[in-house]
Amino acid sequence: MTQANENFLKELRHPDVSVPEGMQSSVAVTTFGRLIDSIYNWGRRNSIWPMAFGLACCAIEMIATASSRFDQARFGMEVLRASPRQADLMIVSGTVTKKMVVPIVRLYNQMAEPKYVLAMGACAIGGGPFKEGYNVVSGIDKYIPVDVYVPGCPPTPQALLYGLIMMQKKIDSQSLSDRSSTPWYGRGPSEEVPVPILGPDIIDPRQAFLLRRLAEEAQVGATGDGREASA
Ligand code: SF4
Repeated sequence: MTQANENFLKELRHPDVSVPEGMQSSVAVTTFGRLIDSIYNWGRRNSIWPMAFGLACCAIEMIATASSRFDQARFGMEVLRASPRQADLMIVSGTVTKKMVVPIVRLYNQMAEPKYVLAMGACAIGGGPFKEGYNVVSGIDKYIPVDVYVPGCPPTPQALLYGLIMMQKKIDSQSLSDRSSTPWYGRGPSEEVPVPILGPDIIDPRQAFLLRRLAEEAQVGATGDGREASA
């Protein structure tokens, strides 16, 4: 029996049922739910299709990861898709400018569930060397949910591969019977992330109420009379 098969049996094994030591490499006692989860997650984690798009210098390392030297194909992830509708994983690799965050959120909304996001590099995680710059957002997780963070400037291909392995572990931990980890099997469509609006600055529609309040407060400060400003 190969090591991979042994590992699969190990994952299947129910923790409350003991199997004699000599049979552990060929026998696993499990429950139906655990069996379904294992097969389902095994298929999903070994066929993640990342979306083919890069933003800055980190993207060069992402491209290198797909080369023969690092061989992303070992993880079943070598098929980089040019369409968000065929992709499971968005790798945000590089500096996220205010102009670019708009199409990133739109692309994220166009991906089918289940979908995952990996933030690659200091820029995608928190703005990196350009944090608080006039044209850069301080982390993509302010706009879309991130599953795995890979730090570095830039992270090496090995670091990205490690992040992809962590992504596989996350997928493995999801269960069909637990809706909190697989919300896309709930009733109705998934909620879209409101697409930010690019004006003189970037506006997140989810913070509209906060912006309105700040504008009102500024108006009150300018007039010096709260009643007049709110009338
Ligand atoms: S984290 Fe460093 S290498 Fe990556 S995009 Fe930012 S500046 Fe470039």
